[in-house]
Amino acid sequence: MKTEFTSDQRTNPIIQAIEENLRKCVHCGFCLSACPTYSVLGDERDSPRGRIYLIKDMLEQGGAPNPEIVTHVDRCLSCLACMSACPSGVHYQHYIDHARAYVEEHHQRPWFDSVLRAALAIVLPYAGRFRLALRLAKFAQPVAFILGSQLAAMINMAPANIQKPTLPDGSQIYPAEGQRKKRVALLLGCAQKVLRPSINEATIRLLTRLGCEVVVSNDVGCCGALTHHLGKDDAARDFAQANIDAWQSEIDGEGLDAIVINAAGCGTEVKDYAYLFKEDPAYRELAQKISDLTKDISEIVADLELPSAAVIHLPAVVYHDACSLMHGQGITVAPRQQLQSVGFDVAEIPGRHYCCGSAGSYNLLQPEMAGQLKDQRIGGLDDVLSENGAQILATGNIGCLVQLASGTDIPIVHTVELLDWATGGPRPDNL
Ligand code: SF4
Ligand code: SF4
Repeated sequence: MKTEFTSDQRTNPIIQAIEENLRKCVHCGFCLSACPTYSVLGDERDSPRGRIYLIKDMLEQGGAPNPEIVTHVDRCLSCLACMSACPSGVHYQHYIDHARAYVEEHHQRPWFDSVLRAALAIVLPYAGRFRLALRLAKFAQPVAFILGSQLAAMINMAPANIQKPTLPDGSQIYPAEGQRKKRVALLLGCAQKVLRPSINEATIRLLTRLGCEVVVSNDVGCCGALTHHLGKDDAARDFAQANIDAWQSEIDGEGLDAIVINAAGCGTEVKDYAYLFKEDPAYRELAQKISDLTKDISEIVADLELPSAAVIHLPAVVYHDACSLMHGQGITVAPRQQLQSVGFDVAEIPGRHYCCGSAGSYNLLQPEMAGQLKDQRIGGLDDVLSENGAQILATGNIGCLVQLASGTDIPIVHTVELLDWATGGPRPDNL
């Protein structure tokens, strides 16, 4: 793709990287059919190729972006299906991340939008604030309709049961059962801790059962993905820096074999810390080390030996690929294999490469598109369930789990909860 950045713009290393990336795009359009927003809207400006052009124009021209471009940037889910589809290796993730940061810096949003985004950035990444916000939302549900459709949609997403924290406060070390094979740090996440604490409990039980000593540091917080996807890069870097410092201090102490992440969206973010700090000489190498050590839970389980199933009759499962796991980290086989190896039959959802509409805070900011994608994903599920006798939906990301749970009565669990149950843990309480 031909670019027209000025020589002055080309002195900026970020523009240099973007230009190099853009030159890989050969306009072939293979990415279009992979894009969920293009599939729904049929508008090239809501496709990856269309957005690439719009963002290129925005960056070349500089200054305040055209609001129309902002609309199409905002509608992108960052699901990265286009990256999996692209034969030329265009790195869309870094491109859209930069576009969001550019919009955040140069565009004056309508006041409601600005306030909403600021509120999400200061609430969602903090478990205590998020729990309080959910309680208030539950209280407001009966009168939510008077607050306008977007706010009402957000308030109505608050779950019926808001659970209390179940893991002890502060830094913890969970010893390995039997001989220690690995020492790993676990990221508990922020939203996940509040929405489904059983996922972290199951992860700790499974990892310790498989021979890992699990370290949870109180100084590790949100991975930064929520603010990063809002274009608030400085805030994302602050979260990332605190996490890097905390994990580095564990590495300097007793050492770490891996940093384990059980929320696919967070895993994709931490694996990209190296890029986030690319221009920061003080953190570049540390960030690279942390990204290299980071593994999705399915990757660390693959390195260990899963025991045979402790439960005899396990139900069949439909597996939903989280975009951040499938497209962001290229992990599709391991979770299925692990479920099968402990005795679950695994069935597929049609159109598995399409996003369910969760995408971080996307379902809060773009509820209409998110709702259509959820309906698309859930439609056809009944056929799969009746064909395969499946009774459970499993996924590797809390965002997808909450999004899909709001559209179906089928019980939804994290894959790790099933692996834990099958190998000696308790049956997930919603099954
Ligand atoms: S990230 Fe997803 S929604 Fe955005 S352009 Fe790519 S495929 Fe489309
Ligand atoms: S598939 Fe890749 S090369 Fe082809 S149009 Fe899309 S981004 Fe460009």
